[in-house]
Amino acid sequence: MIKYKLDCLDCNKNFDSWFSNSKEYEKLKQRNLVNCHFCGSKNINKSIMAPNVNNFINDNKTEFFSLKRKRDVERKIKNFQNFIKNNFEYVGNNFAYKARSLHYNNKKFKKGIFGSASKKEIKELNEEGINTQTFPWIEKKDN
Ligand SMILES: [Zn+2]
Repeated sequence: MIKYKLDCLDCNKNFDSWFSNSKEYEKLKQRNLVNCHFCGSKNINKSIMAPNVNNFINDNKTEFFSLKRKRDVERKIKNFQNFIKNNFEYVGNNFAYKARSLHYNNKKFKKGIFGSASKKEIKELNEEGINTQTFPWIEKKDN
């Protein structure tokens, strides 16, 4: 048995469908026996099963599939960025410095901080017992 994710080109919904093998899918498709579960359209496209999120961004082989996924992920990252921007104080490249001064002076900021730091700085902070979280950040212009 093989599970395909099928996209309906008419109503833009997608659904999973089981076939005994890939040939069965092709056969049914040729005979127009693959229907959309939602609107009954036969305008169905097979898409690849979701790969690992880490794998798709630069994977040209799954470009068709990944464009949609990439947009989804970018949207999630953007939402997350907005959350961070609203709840944390931006300290830019001073992140390592600010994080240390918070840590060692026991300062209480109303907000957490966010900014950028190099991998080396993050490693050093961790070694000093200062916990940081890293996350992907999309900027309009590249750094
Ligand atoms: Zn449909």
